[in-house]
Amino acid sequence: MELIIQKYGGSSLASPQNIREAAQRVVRRSQQGVRLVVVVSAMGDTTDDLIELAHQVSARPDGRDLDLLISTGETVSAALLSMALKSLGQDAISLSGAQAGIQTDGYYSQAHILDINSQRMERELARSKVVVVAGFQGIERTSEDVTTLGRGGSDTTAVALAARLKAKICEIYTDVEGIYTADPRVVPEARKLSEIDYEEMLELASYGSKVIHPRAVEIGKLYQIPILVAGSGSQSCGTLILEGVNMEAKNKVRGVTFDMDVAKITVVGIPDKPGIVTSLFEPLARSNINVDTIVQNASVQGITDLTFTVSRGDTEKTLEIILPVTESIKAQKVVHSTNLGKVSIVGVGMQNAPGYAARMFHTLYEAGVNIELITTSEIRITCIVEEDKIPTAVRSLHRAFELEKED
Ligand code: ADP
Ligand code: ASP
Ligand code: MG
Repeated sequence: MELIIQKYGGSSLASPQNIREAAQRVVRRSQQGVRLVVVVSAMGDTTDDLIELAHQVSARPDGRDLDLLISTGETVSAALLSMALKSLGQDAISLSGAQAGIQTDGYYSQAHILDINSQRMERELARSKVVVVAGFQGIERTSEDVTTLGRGGSDTTAVALAARLKAKICEIYTDVEGIYTADPRVVPEARKLSEIDYEEMLELASYGSKVIHPRAVEIGKLYQIPILVAGSGSQSCGTLILEGVNMEAKNKVRGVTFDMDVAKITVVGIPDKPGIVTSLFEPLARSNINVDTIVQNASVQGITDLTFTVSRGDTEKTLEIILPVTESIKAQKVVHSTNLGKVSIVGVGMQNAPGYAARMFHTLYEAGVNIELITTSEIRITCIVEEDKIPTAVRSLHRAFELEKED
């Protein structure tokens, strides 16, 4: 019998009524003669509330304690969904991340899955149970401490389980009907895509589109798991993420995305010598701080400036780490700003097709948006702009590239 993984997001499980509805959907799917593993997120805003609670008792909560706390949101959902399924006559079992055999590294709040021991899940599936797994959580391999996978990480649990259990498809149910050409909350005329390539989705997700966790897309691509993103309350067909879609599409831009979580740090007046950049970035890497855009100016009289971005939550930690280094290398000063955002256009068709960058810059210029930094990949162009200009920038780009039109 085929195995399907379903994942229900927080907004689809926000109330007991929502949980009963999700249970009905699971039962309907199970009656189609498939085996099911269902991954759940915490109800509604539970994770935010738990983080807030932690900060009410400690300015800097310990990472291990925080993960134990925030993992409870998903545990609650798993237990409740399993109860709801049983009340509908569907045999089910709820499992924590640890019980599902999800082993991770030890980076609290951003742990990566290293392995999944699937024996327990397979045993329960063989007993014709629907297996309900708490998303977002795992245990560190040796200490068996509870870890979490990063915000939005239940998607990653779901696709990782699909890969491990060799599922036919991973279905992600959320509060929108699929993947759109832009966040429909910001661009009302955004169009739902029927399919999107892994690579494009990975760039969109990594550059802010939180409809799916980037690491879930990465795993999907690696193990070639088709991922369906669809509305939990709707019968419409959603968007399928898979390999090699629309390579020759007419409209080469597939989507526009934005990210408000940007802090820019500039080290001014650095002596331009070998080894200096390493001395700045090595300690950041050791502390697991993800550095994104990096721009080093051409040096003038042996002195240069270096600008890079990190996520806002990492600003304080980054400054703490680099300030002693900048003193020792005799840089002049360090300045930072947190009122910035990134706006990106993404499309596999853009590689080797000239003119997209020029059109993007011209559109932003006409919309009165000043560009602070630019970065690109083969299939993405990103501009860092003032945060309050982001909605204007996203809408203007969506219009300029005619993304509302059918391809
Ligand atoms: P869940 O709780 O189900 O995990 P999320 O809030 O994490 O849901 O993700 C769904 C949200 O992603 C949508 O409500 C939407 O605002 C946002 N989003 C951002 N970009 C896009 C996009 N390109 N297409 C669809 N939704 C998007
Ligand atoms: N509950 C977690 C979060 O809010 C994980 C998830 O929803 O995927 O980030
Ligand atoms: Mg999510």
